Amino acid sequence: MKFIHKAVFSLLFAVILACSGCTASAQSPGIAVPTASPSPNGFQRFNRTDLSAFDTVITLVAFAPDQASFDRAADRAFEKIQLLDHLFDGYSAYDDLHNLYYVNQHAAQTPVQIPEDLFRLLSWCKEQWAAGHRETNVGMGAVLSIWHEYRTAGMQHPDEAKLPPMEELTAASKHINFDDVVLDAEKQTVFFSDPDLTLDIGAVAKGYAADAVAELLYEDMPSFLLSLGGNVYAGNAPLDGRANWAVGVQNPDVTQSGTKDILDVHDKTVVTSGDYWRYYTVDGERYHHIIDPETLFPSRKMVSVTILCESSILADFLSTTLFVLPYEEGRQVADSLEGVEVMWILPDGSVRATDGMKDYARSMKNPS
Ligand code: ADP
Ligand code: MG
Repeated sequence: MKFIHKAVFSLLFAVILACSGCTASAQSPGIAVPTASPSPNGFQRFNRTDLSAFDTVITLVAFAPDQASFDRAADRAFEKIQLLDHLFDGYSAYDDLHNLYYVNQHAAQTPVQIPEDLFRLLSWCKEQWAAGHRETNVGMGAVLSIWHEYRTAGMQHPDEAKLPPMEELTAASKHINFDDVVLDAEKQTVFFSDPDLTLDIGAVAKGYAADAVAELLYEDMPSFLLSLGGNVYAGNAPLDGRANWAVGVQNPDVTQSGTKDILDVHDKTVVTSGDYWRYYTVDGERYHHIIDPETLFPSRKMVSVTILCESSILADFLSTTLFVLPYEEGRQVADSLEGVEVMWILPDGSVRATDGMKDYARSMKNPS
């Protein structure tokens, strides 16, 4: 249900991007505009789209000498995506894979040994937690699963949509301390010292995956544009003479469609968190999927936050974090981080951005 909702808008927006000649969006992936002829340097543009992972549309556009080279590199990239999709899946078991679902079922009884990618993701989140960035808390599964349950039910039966009772959310919020997630680097295990805690890594999983796949693509086919739903990774500049890839920042008003802005980038990731993809409606009010750990309710300070930097897991983490923080606090965080640019879209439609965004955003560039 959730998927269909997202996919329909993705395709809708992709058409708009294709018309305007862009190549990807930071909130929904664009479908590649076919190239009419090979580039003078002998490289051609290829693309592949996949709907089978991360509950979203995944698009890869890249320049390669021929179809066979593209297919080899794309196969390797999509195999990794599939592997990470299974590993980060919190809803299904896959044979004897110690994936997120398995961890949530077993880690309160005994330390669970986990594959390196999941261990690295959790360790990275620990570092952020230790540094005091706690608005994005992947140990918040107990609260997020309640919202997930009510949202899913509300989307399936809109007439009966209900809000989760506050008592239920408050009771769950006693079990969201990420300090209770114990990682052992030597044994590569995870253990929950609170039996009612569960993990929800939705805020960073696609970012981690984008980084991991970008690493492979840099080895095989460095001029690429990878889009995993709201996470875009742009590799080396396109080999058709353009200096950059164009990444659209979607207009949060999806009924208006179109882009709010276009970022010209290469060797950077662009990630957007928005309130307009996953939501349900109760008594005419929209309740989306990014939950403020303080209020235990969807945060209403922003409608979208777009992060541009070199690490997609950081961008994904920050897009959720700065979505929850008030603008002034988020701005301080952004300004304290080297190489991180941010664009906020506020509920009144106004746009704020870090100073360096003017080097990328078409609406902010000085006419030259
Ligand atoms: P999207 O999944 O649409 O790309 P985000 O990257 O912002 O958006 O992640 C949102 C997801 O993260 C939610 O679906 C939920 O699983 C989880 N989440 C929501 N709020 C928080 C939070 N405060 N801390 C950690 N995870 C969260
Ligand atoms: Mg995120």
